Amino acid sequence: MGLDREDPLAEFRSRFELPDDVIYLDGNSLGPLPKGVAERLDQMLRHQWGESLIRGWNQHGWIDLPERVGNKIAQLTGAVPGTVTCVDTTSLNLVKVLSAALELRPGRRVILSDPGNFPTDLYMAQGLIRVLSQNHEIRLAEPDELESAIFDDTAVVMLTQVDYRSGRVYDMARITDRAHEVGALTIWDLAHSAGALPVDLQGANVDFAIGCSYKYLNGGPGAPAWVYVRPGLNETGWPLLSGWMGHESPFEFDPVYRPANGIGHMRVGTPPVLALAALDAALDVWNGVDMSLLRTKSSALGDLFIEEVERQCLGYGLRLASPRNAAERGSQVSFHCDRGYAVMQALIADGVIGDFRSPDILRFGFNALYITYANIVEAARRLKCVLDEEKWNRPEYLQRAKVT
Ligand SMILES: *Cc1c(COP(=O)(O)O)cnc(C)c1O
Repeated sequence: MGLDREDPLAEFRSRFELPDDVIYLDGNSLGPLPKGVAERLDQMLRHQWGESLIRGWNQHGWIDLPERVGNKIAQLTGAVPGTVTCVDTTSLNLVKVLSAALELRPGRRVILSDPGNFPTDLYMAQGLIRVLSQNHEIRLAEPDELESAIFDDTAVVMLTQVDYRSGRVYDMARITDRAHEVGALTIWDLAHSAGALPVDLQGANVDFAIGCSYKYLNGGPGAPAWVYVRPGLNETGWPLLSGWMGHESPFEFDPVYRPANGIGHMRVGTPPVLALAALDAALDVWNGVDMSLLRTKSSALGDLFIEEVERQCLGYGLRLASPRNAAERGSQVSFHCDRGYAVMQALIADGVIGDFRSPDILRFGFNALYITYANIVEAARRLKCVLDEEKWNRPEYLQRAKVT
């Protein structure tokens, strides 16, 4: 297509190992394998682990990997160096920063979120409230009422910037300002933002942020998550999970915990060096990527997909579940669809990989580094084919697997 010939990001597709027979619209759930990762892991295993053995912690700087990798993520998210570390999972990082925020606002009891927030964020908050036993309350407001629900009893506004189902985007800077006006703190889950759209943590004055590395950052299944704390905030705080790796000097083996200064106190235990090495190599994909070009292209891909699906699949009851206006949408498009699970299974069997989100959502993610405009037109055509020919109507597609 002409659009592909003029695409300024076209060269980046060659940075990924993508199967030829697949149109991959699920990089928002698990990013594909970047070139260079396999070589890096092989080198890591055979030479670093295999030959250096325990000397690798110092010789190869394994011990500093969480912050070294964190600095690459900082670059992608507008954070200053030394404010991001790559540790644990997003769920665990959420509970760490939430407890820090609540401790910084001792007189306030409300954690404000929205009912469509990613369940693990809400679950972790519920679990923390139980153990704290200080009468904290999770108050949920619908996205369009959220700003007016921020009051001076709000300790922290805890939101996912890009809704995992619909792709709706919050204005992070505006909501953060509003929270600060009444003395509340903010926690932003950027699982569907980092690597998907321009993010400016420092510019937006965000207090805490967390995110996954296996989605748009392509770090591989179960890649370690990341966590950001605004410089100067909570540097002397005592973290909820006061593990030895977050101690000021772990190898003094002092029986008394003293938090490390800065982002290091978000560490808990020994870093997963193999997984961090894979993520470190994967993040090199971003060298030379202009995030505003990425945003422009992913918006255009989303617009084209909506247009094509609505035109080609007319009459099958598909209903757009994402904002039509690309400026209000992340890098994904979702449709409500009856028998959505089976439809998605049939589409995957036909080589277009998206995913299904309960109760009835077909979700398609667009990573503009490797998706072409021609892919979009073809994906919509195959979806039409699945619907026209009722390809979804097979017992094996109706039976839900463990992971959807
Ligand atoms: C994917 C996702 C998570 C996942 O958390 P893990 O602890 O890594 O399993 C958390 N939050 C959001 C918004 C997500 O989309």
